[in-house]
Amino acid sequence: MIEPSYYLSNTVKSIKPSGIRKFFDLAASMEGVISLGVGEPDFVTSWSVREACILSLEQGFTSYTANAGLLELRNEISYYLRKITKTHYDANEEILVTVGASQAIDLALRAIVNTGDEVIVIDPSFVSYAPLVELAGGTPVLISTRGEEEFKLQPEALEEAITEHTKAIILCSPNNPTGTVLEKKELEKIAEIIEKHDLLVISDEIYAELTYDEEYASFVSIAGMRERTILVSGFSKGFAMTGWRLGYVAARKEFSQAMLKIHQYAMMCAPTMAQYAAIEALKNGLEDVDHMRKSYRQRRNLFVGSLNEIGLTCHVPGGAFYAFPSIKSTSLSSEQFAERLLLEEKVAVVPGSVFGESGEGYIRCSYASSLEQLQEALKRIDRFVKKL
Ligand code: PMP
Repeated sequence: MIEPSYYLSNTVKSIKPSGIRKFFDLAASMEGVISLGVGEPDFVTSWSVREACILSLEQGFTSYTANAGLLELRNEISYYLRKITKTHYDANEEILVTVGASQAIDLALRAIVNTGDEVIVIDPSFVSYAPLVELAGGTPVLISTRGEEEFKLQPEALEEAITEHTKAIILCSPNNPTGTVLEKKELEKIAEIIEKHDLLVISDEIYAELTYDEEYASFVSIAGMRERTILVSGFSKGFAMTGWRLGYVAARKEFSQAMLKIHQYAMMCAPTMAQYAAIEALKNGLEDVDHMRKSYRQRRNLFVGSLNEIGLTCHVPGGAFYAFPSIKSTSLSSEQFAERLLLEEKVAVVPGSVFGESGEGYIRCSYASSLEQLQEALKRIDRFVKKL
C-alpha cells in the first residue's frame, strides 16, 4: 500500500478546494432550487457561432492549430481589441489564444513569477487568482476593499501593500464577485502607483463587454500601461461561450512569447473547433452581445432594486452579472446565510467569504437567470430575511 499524500507536492496540499463547489454539490442534490450561484450566462451561444463550429467539423478541420492559435482568429482579436481598448496588438507576435481566460491567467503568472515574488490580489476577488499565484511559486498579498467604497481598490491601500518583493498586481474590472467597474480616472490613479513602483499588471478583462452605465475603460488604454500590462480576456462571458474554453492574452511580445513557450509544451493549442466558432463570434456576433448586455442591464436594475427594498443593501454594480449585497443586517455569517437560504428556501447563492475575508458579510448572486426565476428568487429571499 502506498501513501499517496507522500507523493503530492506541498503546494498542492496547501491549496484549499474552491468553496463554491460545496454549494453546487448540495444544490444539485435538491429539487426545485433556483440557482443564483453559477458565474455564467444563461444564454446559449449564438446559433451562427455554433454553426461555424459545425461547418469547421464538416470540412474536417480537426487537427492542431498553430500553438498561438489560428492566425485568422488572432487577426480578428487584434481588430476587436483595437475597437474596445483603443490599443493595437500585433496578431503575429502579441496575441495568444488560450484555453479560457483561466489558462491565460495561469500562463501570465507562470511566465513572470519567481519563487518569493509577491503578487497583489484584491480581496474579494475571483477564486482562482491567489491559488494560481501560489502554484506559480509566488506569494499572494491580499488588499482588503470595503463594501462602503463599492469594493474599489484605494490607491493608499495599494501603496501600503507594495514591498521590495512585489512584482505584479492582478486587476479585474468589471469585477467578479462584486460587479464593480473602475472608472478611467480611478484606473489612472492606480496606474501612477504602478509606474512609480515599476510593477507589472495582469488585467483580467473577461467582463469587458458587460458594462452598463459607462463606456468601458481598458487598463491598457491608460497612458504608459500597455507596455507593463498582460491583458487577459476571452469569450466565456460576453459571448456566452463558457463551455467552449476559449480565451486570449494580449501583451508586448516579450511577455506573450514567454507565455507561448509554456503554452506550446503544456497545452499545444486551444481547441480547434472552438477557434473557428470564435472567428464567427467576432465577425458577426457583436449584435447578439449587445442584445445580451441590454438584457442583463434590465435584470440588474430589477434585481438590485429589489434587494435594497428587501433590506439587503447593495451598491449598483456597473458590470458583469453579479450583485454582492450585504447580509450584515442579519446575524448570520455569509456561509450560514447561504446554507440556510438553500435548505429553507431553495435559493442557491455563494457566500462572500469564498472570495476572501473582505467578502464576509456579503453574498454573491448571479442575476444571469430569467426574469421569472429572479422574481421568484426575490420572493423567497424576502420571506427568508423576514423570518430571521
Ligand atoms: N476571470 C474571471 C474574473 C472570471 O469570473 C472567470 C470565470 N468565472 C474567469 C476569469 C475564467 O473564465 P474562462 O471561462 O474564460 O476560463
